[in-house]
Amino acid sequence: MSFLSHLECSACGLTVDADRQQSICPSCGKVLLARYDLGRARAAVRPADLVGRVASLWRYRELLPVRDPVHIVTLGEGWTPLLPAPRLGRALGCRRLLVKDEGLNPTGSFKARGMAVAVSRAVELGARALAVPSAGNAASAMSAYAARAGLAAYVFMPSDAPLANQATCLAYGANLFLVRGLINDCGRIVQRESPTRGWFDLSTLREPYRAEGKKTMGYELAEQLGWRLPDVIVYPTGGGTGIVGMWKAFEELEELGWIGSKRPRMVSVQASGCAPIVQAYARGDTRAAPWPDPHTMAAGLRVPAAIGDYLILAAIRASGGTAVAVSDEEIGEAMRDLARTEGMSVSPEAAATVAGLQRLIRAGEIDPDSEIVLFLTGSDLLNTDTIEVNRPVLDPDDVEGCARAIDYDRMRHPSRGE
Ligand SMILES: *Cc1c(COP(=O)(O)O)cnc(C)c1O
Ligand SMILES: [Zn+2]
Repeated sequence: MSFLSHLECSACGLTVDADRQQSICPSCGKVLLARYDLGRARAAVRPADLVGRVASLWRYRELLPVRDPVHIVTLGEGWTPLLPAPRLGRALGCRRLLVKDEGLNPTGSFKARGMAVAVSRAVELGARALAVPSAGNAASAMSAYAARAGLAAYVFMPSDAPLANQATCLAYGANLFLVRGLINDCGRIVQRESPTRGWFDLSTLREPYRAEGKKTMGYELAEQLGWRLPDVIVYPTGGGTGIVGMWKAFEELEELGWIGSKRPRMVSVQASGCAPIVQAYARGDTRAAPWPDPHTMAAGLRVPAAIGDYLILAAIRASGGTAVAVSDEEIGEAMRDLARTEGMSVSPEAAATVAGLQRLIRAGEIDPDSEIVLFLTGSDLLNTDTIEVNRPVLDPDDVEGCARAIDYDRMRHPSRGE
């Protein structure tokens, strides 16, 4: 079923056995990527074969690393809708704006894709306990898939990570630890403790298969557009597996003969309080300097140093893309805009794409006539930390009082379309 052949170092080219647990490159410490026998896959599978397959990322099973389907751990992740966003587009001045609504994934974010594939592969390689450092959503996703697989879960999060994520991990029965520090500090604990405790370390890009789950965003996008790609992809970047994974997907798809050589411009959006990739891009650097004292309400973007920085920067440059930082105020405004114009309640990271696009359109760096896809990576429905509801309470028997309150409110907030 899987055409997985080996793992290859993205920096020095060393190849290692994919059927043993691996982390980073044993020679140079950089990121290992999964490689497939694409020649054989090309002969065995055609796009038409996918029609009618399961509506989840497992429809691409030949290009995923799980060898035996009995090991698949699924909650129905992937195959999220690609929707036109005409009202938001009009507000931004773009004629062909689409959004990929990743908030509909299990546990409310695209992290489910990576964890579904990584946990499945961990099961296949004999794991009994999983560990992950996370700024928030990866922890929720990992906890859910560990529960689904019947494995122990050890989660390390910054102590100021969103309460919704903390509560979700506990609900799924994970062993949750809060850490004084950032995601990188959490990672240090996981790397230190995992070998002796027999934990399978699922840290971003230190484990080769989360990126495989995330690459399916690229496969889906191509399939949903009829095996072509848009002009521009806007993606909120933290650890960077989304961009790295999609870029890898496009290479594989071309080698499979399913798409041509045209690539979208990859646009990375970060928060101005933590923008190492944006800074490195602007300076023309191939690596990003660690960001001191990172802060932003977009927890998933609070990644001061990414192990895959060189891969993210290479993908942005090779695609003719760019990188842009937006403030928390712009993110908050974008969350409100998206909810009001399109009925989508998204997480701050997702809303950052709207704010980033707005900046780039205004700066003339993106052609408003191009076909643009925003990746709305997470939903906001779980995030009660930021919710404030301050509304009058009506007494149903006070007929006049009700009418007065409604009239007063309509006067202050004229409703859409009236
Ligand atoms: C983790 C996360 C991101 C950052 O994704 P990467 O692919 O790791 O850069 C963006 N949005 C949300 C909602 C996230 O949880
Ligand atoms: Zn190497």
